[in-house]
Amino acid sequence: MKKVLIVGGGLGGLSAALALRQHGIAVDLIEASRNWTVQHDGMLIQEHALRAMVEEAGVTVRVGVSFVEMRDLGRAVGVRFTDNTSGGYDLVVGADGADSKVREVVFGNGQQGIHKGRVVLIGDAVHAISTHPGQESAQAVKDGILLGELCGQRMPVEEMLAAFGVRRADLRLAKLAGPVGVALRSADEQRS
Ligand SMILES: Cc1cc2nc3c(=O)[nH]c(=O)nc-3n(C[C@H](O)[C@H](O)[C@H](O)COP(=O)(O)OP(=O)(O)OC[C@H]3O[C@@H](n4cnc5c(N)ncnc54)[C@H](O)[C@@H]3O)c2cc1C
Repeated sequence: MKKVLIVGGGLGGLSAALALRQHGIAVDLIEASRNWTVQHDGMLIQEHALRAMVEEAGVTVRVGVSFVEMRDLGRAVGVRFTDNTSGGYDLVVGADGADSKVREVVFGNGQQGIHKGRVVLIGDAVHAISTHPGQESAQAVKDGILLGELCGQRMPVEEMLAAFGVRRADLRLAKLAGPVGVALRSADEQRS
């Protein structure tokens, strides 16, 4: 894994960007909003502070930019951007929130999933409607860190994304301690 595109500069996208940089992976991040602020728990973090943090880590950030087209070519994903540039990536991370355009493009309306080919969703982009009200921002951060950690392990993309799906589910169930969590984990194991 050499180069990753992150679509969306919210908590999930930023966490993933920093985690990926820690493993020496090149990261391009596009954020559609020109007035880029990160919202969580009623707190606003100023754009320039965040931008300084991710740029210091070596992330290439483009604000006011989205994508026009995304084509999974098997060995890479070809992306065309709204600023008339294009690029090729080993992995595209959809961190573009509850109304995720990446989710729409990859899974279509009504379908669900976390990854397909070389595209993966994190944070609010995974579900149109929250399944864990009040814990969404923590989930977005955990997703970003977990994805960065797995990308650093240098395994084939399909294997890595399958592990991401499993470990993400484990993290969610791990919150449910006691008999309910044990029962859910056991049901999950029996299904797989
Ligand atoms: C009023 C309010 C209160 C909340 N309270 C809580 C709370 O108490 N506890 C809690 O845990 N969570 C809370 N949340 C939810 C929390 O803010 C989100 O779960 C969290 O921000 C998700 O992070 P994310 O990075 O997945 O998505 P987002 O924060 O939505 O970030 C997505 C980013 O992608 C950008 N983007 C969108 N489309 C594109 C595109 N096509 N191309 C490029 N960029 C794009 C957006 O501009 C945005 O910056 C609250 C949310 C709101 C609105």
